[in-house]
Amino acid sequence: MSVDSPARTPLVVAVIGAGPSGIYAAEALTAQSAVPVEVVVLDRLPVPFGLVRYGVAPDHHSIRSIRNTLERTLERPGVAFYGDVTIGRDVTVEELRGAVDVVLYAYGAGSDRRLGIPGEDLPGSLGAPEFVNWYCGHPDVHPDAHTEADPGGTADADPGAQIARLVRESRTAVVVGVGNVALDVARVLVKSADELADTDMAEEVLASLAGKRVDTVHVLGRRGPAYTAFTTKELRELGQLPDLDLVVSAEDLEFDASSLAVVGQDKVAARNVAVMREWAARPPTGASRRIVLHFWTRPTRVLGEDHVTGVELERTVIGSDGYVDGTGELSTVEADLVVRSVGYRGVALPGVPYDASTGRVPHAEGRVIRDDGFSPDEYVTGWIKRGPTGVIGTNKSDAVETVASLLTDVDAGRVVPRGRSGALDRLLVGRGLHALDLPAWHRIDAAEVALGTSHGRLRTTLAHRVELLAAARHPGDDPA
Ligand SMILES: Cc1cc2nc3c(=O)[nH]c(=O)nc-3n(C[C@H](O)[C@H](O)[C@H](O)COP(=O)(O)OP(=O)(O)OC[C@H]3O[C@@H](n4cnc5c(N)ncnc54)[C@H](O)[C@@H]3O)c2cc1C
Repeated sequence: MSVDSPARTPLVVAVIGAGPSGIYAAEALTAQSAVPVEVVVLDRLPVPFGLVRYGVAPDHHSIRSIRNTLERTLERPGVAFYGDVTIGRDVTVEELRGAVDVVLYAYGAGSDRRLGIPGEDLPGSLGAPEFVNWYCGHPDVHPDAHTEADPGGTADADPGAQIARLVRESRTAVVVGVGNVALDVARVLVKSADELADTDMAEEVLASLAGKRVDTVHVLGRRGPAYTAFTTKELRELGQLPDLDLVVSAEDLEFDASSLAVVGQDKVAARNVAVMREWAARPPTGASRRIVLHFWTRPTRVLGEDHVTGVELERTVIGSDGYVDGTGELSTVEADLVVRSVGYRGVALPGVPYDASTGRVPHAEGRVIRDDGFSPDEYVTGWIKRGPTGVIGTNKSDAVETVASLLTDVDAGRVVPRGRSGALDRLLVGRGLHALDLPAWHRIDAAEVALGTSHGRLRTTLAHRVELLAAARHPGDDPA
């Protein structure tokens, strides 16, 4: 059979997003041989791995090392990584659809849910994505102007500099939410720079954390200890930090019938409650830092005139309809910094169907629904498909489901390879766009390891796009 015969024409798939879900989709596509494929995994950032690089806490080394496995998929024959290409800005979704056979959306959930309370936008009140992006060294929060024009990081327009200043000046923080991201944020806020020195945090982030004064973090849960979304391993980790008092009120650990039912049915909830009971039984040690867990409490107002000075809290109960109701019993807690961590949320990408009520792309088993029917060349996976839930591995089974739908559709003749090899490259080159390939990532990787070594660390994240692009450059490249 000739390589040009229709049966051998590869199916060209563009995956938007090089986070775990996009890379797992590339893995599933190249793990089969029934349909020859060419997969291009595009990302708006110069580097791959999505939230594995810019979400997973820097002190969780083994989870962050998942990127080594993800990288091996990007090295597979038939897979290419194109970094620094923003779909919807550099290339429209329509143009991309015209250049490949199939577009697979894997662009994650780039925003977060809001509290909808007065004062939420006061300086000093942040969403978890901003704060997490800051400590993970995301270029969105560490703009280039900072390095070039303002090495000290004091410019008002620089979000990274503002967060750094907040971290340096705050004594008391309030973290709203009782999931693992809230635990990550609380832990980073109480840990000393020395305790974080073995991470890959950017030097400027570590320097700000070294000047940090935060000694108290209040964590707010609007339901009781039985209803948290923590994983027990992450919860226990807090209890193992030295010189830290963990405060849980005995009143919150007196359970009503609904809490008892949850603990009776859910092993993780039961284990979490056991951990918190053990903390409640510990006498205070007068440690230099503390985390106070407040349950049956919701924020009703962020207080302050021109910056955060505190949070008004309301005691809650579960109403007869099963939803949380306020009791009207108010109190206040002083705070200099508020981080809301009540869930990430998908955003609309121009040209892609989007359900604003869920923050997701509408689909059935990964097949995108457009104009009330299945769109034959669009598929979706990961957080933008199912919402911000599950662990990294959940994205693997999710991607396998989507790819199975796609392969079924190819088998049934609903999706037909149309000889699109090279069309995307021609589109990008025609635009004057130079995507960063996998060797460019390897050069960034080597530069981060070398920088880390020079500071006696294993790796140091390059936080600014300009630094990433400089490191990506091939030694022979013209810097212009
Ligand atoms: C703070 C935090 C900590 C976490 N910690 C853990 C943990 O410890 N363990 C665990 O199992 N899970 C953890 N998770 C969950 C895990 O990170 C997610 O399940 C996973 O990253 C979701 O994968 P995704 O590929 O759908 O999205 P993402 O990882 O967000 O990847 C999406 C990618 O799409 C790119 N993109 C977005 N828009 C565009 C565009 N227009 N054009 C091109 N590219 C685009 C983004 O740059 C990004 O690289 C954590 C999540 C968060 C937020």
